[in-house]
Amino acid sequence: MFEVQNQPPPLEPYNLFSSDNVLREAVRREGARWAEAALAAFGATLGKPETIQLGFDANKFTPQLRTLDRYGHRLDEVEFHPAWHELLGIALTAGLHSSPWADPKPGAHVARAAGAFMLGQVESGVYCPVAMTYGSVPTLRHAPAIAKDWQPRIFSRDYDRRFLPAHLKTAALVGMGMTENQGGSDLRANTTRAEPSGGGVFRLHGHKWFMSAPMCDAFLVLAQSPKGLSCFLMPRWTPEGERNTIQIVRLKDKLGNRSNASSEVEFHGAYAQLVGEEGRGIPTIIEMGNYTRLDCCIGSSGLMRQAVVQAVHHARHRRAFQKKLIDQPLMTNVLADLALESEAATVLTMRLARAYDENDEAAQVIRRVVTPAAKFWICKRTPFVTYEAMEVLGGSGYIEECVMPRLYREAPVNSIWEGSGNIMCLDVLRAMERTPNAADVLHRELGDGKDARLKVFVDRLNRRFAARDRNDESQARLLVRELVLALQAALLISHAPTTIADAFCASRLNGEGGSAFGLLPRGIDLRSIADRAAPAN
Ligand SMILES: Cc1cc2nc3c(=O)[nH]c(=O)nc-3n(C[C@H](O)[C@H](O)[C@H](O)COP(=O)(O)OP(=O)(O)OC[C@H]3O[C@@H](n4cnc5c(N)ncnc54)[C@H](O)[C@@H]3O)c2cc1C
Repeated sequence: MFEVQNQPPPLEPYNLFSSDNVLREAVRREGARWAEAALAAFGATLGKPETIQLGFDANKFTPQLRTLDRYGHRLDEVEFHPAWHELLGIALTAGLHSSPWADPKPGAHVARAAGAFMLGQVESGVYCPVAMTYGSVPTLRHAPAIAKDWQPRIFSRDYDRRFLPAHLKTAALVGMGMTENQGGSDLRANTTRAEPSGGGVFRLHGHKWFMSAPMCDAFLVLAQSPKGLSCFLMPRWTPEGERNTIQIVRLKDKLGNRSNASSEVEFHGAYAQLVGEEGRGIPTIIEMGNYTRLDCCIGSSGLMRQAVVQAVHHARHRRAFQKKLIDQPLMTNVLADLALESEAATVLTMRLARAYDENDEAAQVIRRVVTPAAKFWICKRTPFVTYEAMEVLGGSGYIEECVMPRLYREAPVNSIWEGSGNIMCLDVLRAMERTPNAADVLHRELGDGKDARLKVFVDRLNRRFAARDRNDESQARLLVRELVLALQAALLISHAPTTIADAFCASRLNGEGGSAFGLLPRGIDLRSIADRAAPAN
């Protein structure tokens, strides 16, 4: 038997919180210092070898649809591997689906964001129902009686996996169905019909082309009622205790996110209750969309962190040409560049999360403008980061026993769903145009021009935002990318070690960053940047 040599130890057990300098600093800075002990405990749970294994198992043994029972009666149930249930239980016990609503306090959304950031590093599939349930609450509150009925079960930290009417359960999860076959971005093209049957109750006829986590207890859906596109809560069971007529046609065979079920469904007179004003479905459900877009930023930042921490860990142990990889100057450059991207994504995400904890004018502007902007750029960078980090591990990074292939397959999804890249950029244009004081708030956020390097960049950005052709849709990606880079630079200049801020400004504000990693110019302390991203053990 040959001797195994020069292989790094697995990165486990490790604490996803305590070993993450950037996350810990952000949690303190953005107002959730009080949550540190709980986050450290959660980070330790996630970093246990047995929890990490659950992530592998849940993605290997994927969900199975059971359409009919042996006699032909409809079931429309999905069976999951025990690993899925265990992971979802871990997420719900930590309150990631509802803690800021159940126990509102300063820093609550930031603390929850930090927990979700760590969860997605171990398994992203369970994150989907967790994120949708979190996002559902502000939309449900448009129907106070429905919210009063559902909130206690949504706020519960139990995981009640039983397929029963919600009133018989201790806890409930909420999904959403907006996308139809003929169009997901253009929701006004929805054709599903909602026929009123009295007392705010409607019967839905139609389909959804994507409806993830179909074992949720209820779904917020859009359908055309007599007064136009409206938002509804559609439970899996009717008040009479019968299975609602939601038929799961098939599960999607997805590139990644494989532990999670995403379904195509048909509604055959399905029971649903109106949420919000009839005919105002999009503004009602878009509140949920804002939170799930925040979650796209959190999830993608977490994927980047996991890719980078694995890469740095590997490079600290693996040797080539008589040196550890991390001591090879070109590899140090690649790692430092990856670490910069990850840190910039994390600090912006956590800053954005704080805007969801605050309610002043600045917070409202940040939520409205920066949420779609950050979603666009952070999600867009994630596939590149996961791919480059995979290469750091060489051939082993391409093998399914390693987490890298899973991170890589997961990476594009947050950019596609909840408004794809272009839709986010067009939304930023709209938000800038319609949000009073957006320019002033962003100017303050960007440091009021105090940093010389940033000032040049921001002056150019301001000219673009003020130009007559500022709404030229063909240029929206360019504009939004620059806005995000400026925000990231401002945060790093204010809060990160000088080496990090200098490297970010030198590489990202000169218009050349983004084509590949490992392009940082001379004169930067690359090693200290890579070391900052290293896990503690
Ligand atoms: C894994 C997964 C899970 C999902 N889960 C759910 C779910 O639970 N519930 C749900 O409702 N949906 C879900 N979706 C659907 C998702 O939200 C949609 O796929 C997404 O919104 C895009 O809609 P579409 O697929 O119809 O693409 P289209 O709307 O056809 O868009 C195609 C492309 O055209 C671009 N585009 C559209 N309009 C413009 C324009 N005016 N200018 C420039 N470019 C434009 C878009 O950015 C996109 O890149 C899920 C998707 C995936 C992949």
